[in-house]
Amino acid sequence: MKPEDFQKQFAELMRQHMPNFGNPAKFQAHSDPPEETQKEEKESFSFDYRPRDVKAYLDRYVIQQEEAKKVLSVALCDHYHHVRLAREGKSLPNYAKQNILLLGPTGVGKTYLVRSVAELIGVPFVKADATKFSETGYVGGDVEDLVRELYRRSDGDVWKAQFGIIYIDEIDKIAQSGHSAGRDVSGLGVQTNLLKLMEETDVSARSQQDIAGQIQAMMDFQNRRKTESHINTKHILFIVSGAFEGLERIIKKRLNESEIGFAAAAPPQAPSKSTNYLDRVETRDLLDYGFEPEFAGRLPVRVVCRPLAEDDLYVILKSSEGSIIRQYKADFAAYGIEIHFAEEALRRIAYLAAAEKTGARGLMTICERVFRNYKFELPSSSVQRFEVTRDVIDAPETHLKQILRQQDNPEIRAARNWMDEFTQKFEASHGLTLRFTEDGMRRLLAIAAEGKNSLREICQNRFKDFQFGLKLIAQNTGQNRFDLDAAAVENPEKVLSDWVVASYRNSQKKAVSSNDGREEK
Ligand code: ADP
Repeated sequence: MKPEDFQKQFAELMRQHMPNFGNPAKFQAHSDPPEETQKEEKESFSFDYRPRDVKAYLDRYVIQQEEAKKVLSVALCDHYHHVRLAREGKSLPNYAKQNILLLGPTGVGKTYLVRSVAELIGVPFVKADATKFSETGYVGGDVEDLVRELYRRSDGDVWKAQFGIIYIDEIDKIAQSGHSAGRDVSGLGVQTNLLKLMEETDVSARSQQDIAGQIQAMMDFQNRRKTESHINTKHILFIVSGAFEGLERIIKKRLNESEIGFAAAAPPQAPSKSTNYLDRVETRDLLDYGFEPEFAGRLPVRVVCRPLAEDDLYVILKSSEGSIIRQYKADFAAYGIEIHFAEEALRRIAYLAAAEKTGARGLMTICERVFRNYKFELPSSSVQRFEVTRDVIDAPETHLKQILRQQDNPEIRAARNWMDEFTQKFEASHGLTLRFTEDGMRRLLAIAAEGKNSLREICQNRFKDFQFGLKLIAQNTGQNRFDLDAAAVENPEKVLSDWVVASYRNSQKKAVSSNDGREEK
């Protein structure tokens, strides 16, 4: 027997023997008021963010998606301010909940946006794919499970669960037209079930499909213990998303038709190639796509997330606080290994990731592929530091072997120790951090191998007066960490003077732009 059939039969059996089975309202007749209800009455809901605060927080993590960040910030603040007022008994009658529809391809930050705002305001967050639900809940999941999951993530705190965020991806797959293969019939049922949640309903904290939960509920009932907990969905914020393939065609057709009807006199203007039709989505397009009017109507806030270009992927790596590069650094640091990424390596990762066509997920795919064996081998080696260059990204295995071989070479180990000593002394004397890159170190070793001078003499000669130039740069730009690459080792005076000149230019540019700012005000 299939598990779902067994569950169905079990639920039927329970209903026959216990007429009140699965009907929570009747349970209350025998019991004390629930603890959570008492708590609910006691606690008020505090929320005092403004849209700009929320957006500023999102900016730290999510790159691009400016419009989505703004719209989400506003909708979120509206929603939770309303919740606060409702809790204070000052609710507006007929307030329309600001549920949100995010349109956009995979891997561009939709989940990341929602997860980040939930973290910021400290409400529980649940994500699921619409495809995993079925109308009956016997096969696949029951949409009410989402609410129960919020409850679980709130550590069984009903009060907290009631203010959570439910995020459902792949919502386009429950559209009822020919746009989604194979799900048409139950898609409508799932829409109806979701609609109930989005409006207002009480969801039992224990699933009728969950046998252990039901046995517990039955025992509680028989023992006349406390009533079963319910989560009211009135203040739960729903955010749904999908790529909506085919929707652009519908919007385009509508726009063209209205232009033809309108422009008997003037010829219709062709929309520019860069027009993003999804931006102009209207409720009727969603209905044409296969959504029920009530369902589309419950999603009043709609915003598009854009595909990410190669440059965006580079910026994500470099500056998002959730960048995967930071994760890799932390992962290696746990073994005492310092890993440094050269600019060209970041550019290369972004380039390869863009070719994957999975948005920022491509970054993870590439990094995982490149560093898989590094993560396995390096923690058990004596490597304490390594530089990720473009070559490492292109030929990771060759480089890993090289790095591991070098560790066995006592000369290289000694040279590395000596260089560390040199940079530490420099930092102690001048308060500036120097670091030899991998190719800088190799160049230094090669120079030492060519001539009569030791590494110590070479460094002392080449970087004799370096601190003066570097201090100027630090004054101009605040930079106090400098990488010495092969070019800096080869021709230190020229490189230093280039850096100094560039630092003056940058500080002038900054002064000009801050003057501009003042004038505007
Ligand atoms: P989806 O749009 O499919 O929901 P996600 O938000 O799950 O994509 O993105 C996957 C991961 O890629 C995120 O966890 C995040 O690390 C990264 N990411 C995606 N988009 C962005 C972005 N715009 N800015 C920064 N990181 C992003």
